[in-house]
Amino acid sequence: MRLELVTIGDELLLGFTIDTNAAFLARTLSEIGFEIAWRTTVGDEPDRIVQAVRNALDRTGAVITTGGLGPTADDRTRPAIAQLFGRELRMDDALMERIKARFQRYGYSSMPASNSVQAMVPEGATVLENPNGSAPGLWIEDERGRWVAMLPGVPHEMRSMATDVIVPMLTRRYSPNGAVVLSRTVRTTGIGESALAELLGEDGHDTVEGLPLAFLPGWEGVDLRLTAHDLPRQQAVAALDRAEAKLRSHADRYVYGLDGANLAAVVLDACRGRGWHIATAESCTGGMLGERITAIPGSSDVYVGGVVA
Ligand code: AMP
Ligand code: MG
Repeated sequence: MRLELVTIGDELLLGFTIDTNAAFLARTLSEIGFEIAWRTTVGDEPDRIVQAVRNALDRTGAVITTGGLGPTADDRTRPAIAQLFGRELRMDDALMERIKARFQRYGYSSMPASNSVQAMVPEGATVLENPNGSAPGLWIEDERGRWVAMLPGVPHEMRSMATDVIVPMLTRRYSPNGAVVLSRTVRTTGIGESALAELLGEDGHDTVEGLPLAFLPGWEGVDLRLTAHDLPRQQAVAALDRAEAKLRSHADRYVYGLDGANLAAVVLDACRGRGWHIATAESCTGGMLGERITAIPGSSDVYVGGVVA
């Protein structure tokens, strides 16, 4: 099942806010077998919101938006999407009461008038409760079963709604066949990206044992990320095992671990296994190397100390 994400907010386009909502939703949903086919980011501009969501509906018919549901003038998602679906916005009295009650609970004498827009619901839309904020989410669907789920932008509110509301809803609706998207990162160090690609030869092109391969260079080394799409979990794990073995057959001497492996911890383990001790001598890194090592619990049995000169 393919989905699209549309994240909404000028601050995302301007680069002041990193789009962590899209990253969280993509990870969460692909783990349970949904494919994120597209991601779009637009500013707080109604026409562009309409255009982005319309394109997404035309492509996949299944869209999650975040942002722009707040009470202020720059929050345009609700009216823009109501307009796209040709629905009137109607005051939902019961929702209004819940929003007011929330303000009372938090000790406000009254709810700011602007918050009443958060009780405006497009005709036929379903309110998705937001236990952590005043902006509820909305679910709107057309007669062809194409839908948009609107979630708030505030990351912790969005995350809890995604986990508690959206995941169960989508799982029920599509009862995915158990197919998942699984990734494995093979972490290498001590070799550059292009040299590593050469070493992998044919297997460094696009796919390894049928799985797409991504090169992710960073300052500690090059991560090789393998991803198995749309397979039952066991088959995905088996395919990742085969692809990992293939990568190792070419480049094992540069591989220090998988996924979250920490280079300093790997070095400490290697020394411990040999009964070695290490000391550091640093100049302009000012102790950063020693810091990396001592950040690992239990490092003192291997690390003797260091000088910074
Ligand atoms: P909004 O719901 O658009 O009023 O956004 C509320 C807050 O959530 C603002 O501080 C935004 O910067 C933040 N926010 C909105 N969208 C995102 C996103 N995609 N990733 C991270 N933070 C976001
Ligand atoms: Mg906003």
